[in-house]
Amino acid sequence: VGGHMKPQEGSMKPKGVKRIIGIGSGKGGVGKSTVSTNLAVALARQGRKVGLLDADIYGPSVPRMMGVNKRPASPDGKTIIPLQGHGVTLMSIGFMLPAEKAVVWRGPMLMGALQQMLTQVEWGELDVLLVDLPPGTGDVAMTLCQKSEVTGAIVVSTPQDVALLDARKALDMFSSLKTPVLGLIENMATYHCPNCGHEAHIFGEGGVRTEAEKMDIPFLGALPIDLDTRIAGDAGDPIALGDSPMAEAYASLARRFID
Ligand code: ADP
Repeated sequence: VGGHMKPQEGSMKPKGVKRIIGIGSGKGGVGKSTVSTNLAVALARQGRKVGLLDADIYGPSVPRMMGVNKRPASPDGKTIIPLQGHGVTLMSIGFMLPAEKAVVWRGPMLMGALQQMLTQVEWGELDVLLVDLPPGTGDVAMTLCQKSEVTGAIVVSTPQDVALLDARKALDMFSSLKTPVLGLIENMATYHCPNCGHEAHIFGEGGVRTEAEKMDIPFLGALPIDLDTRIAGDAGDPIALGDSPMAEAYASLARRFID
């Protein structure tokens, strides 16, 4: 995947893919990739054919979080065979670039890379393709919404004011692109002390739900700050794989945005 292609006119929607859902956030670090990987795994466990496209060009986390990192094959030098991990079909910009290399691309190059990952990857038949977007309101999110007949977007935020401020901008972008927002997810909502049982609201309380109500957008659910979630993500075995309460939380989230 490189940036030297100019985006073509017309649709970038892969043929066999029923729905494309973008997962966005206003800020980085709010857990967008954690949520994306776990939702993908949860959907796969529910028998869906799921793809996950890591379009977070500036910080692709899917290779690490899904425990898959090798270069995808391209037998004819054009089509790209996606990788498989935990029952999910995977493509990440990170598979194609050395891990330490910074991506310094301008808009048209980003769009070229996104287009390649959508149209040259053999996604096959999928019920849903989740796209882990870069944070913010940049070219990748805009191109995806304008060119790929996206079904809708999910926005992840923490309850903290500075995160919500930026989440609102992302919501505004989706609305101006006429992309339906399927719902908001509050991540890092609470912290439950394993020693004393006290529950702390480290980033504030309920802000995302309130925002969803104000904007008349579905509130999909709240996820706590959870040490095992972080450890599982770092180990490449998303928490949604097991049978913990967190896995159940992701399973019920996954049921909420796909009919
Ligand atoms: P983003 O994609 O928004 O940049 P990440 O998913 O990479 O965010 O998450 C940022 C960091 O926070 C990662 O180290 C991840 O493991 C951790 N993290 C995300 N969600 C949670 C959570 N609910 N509990 C604990 N750690 C989390």
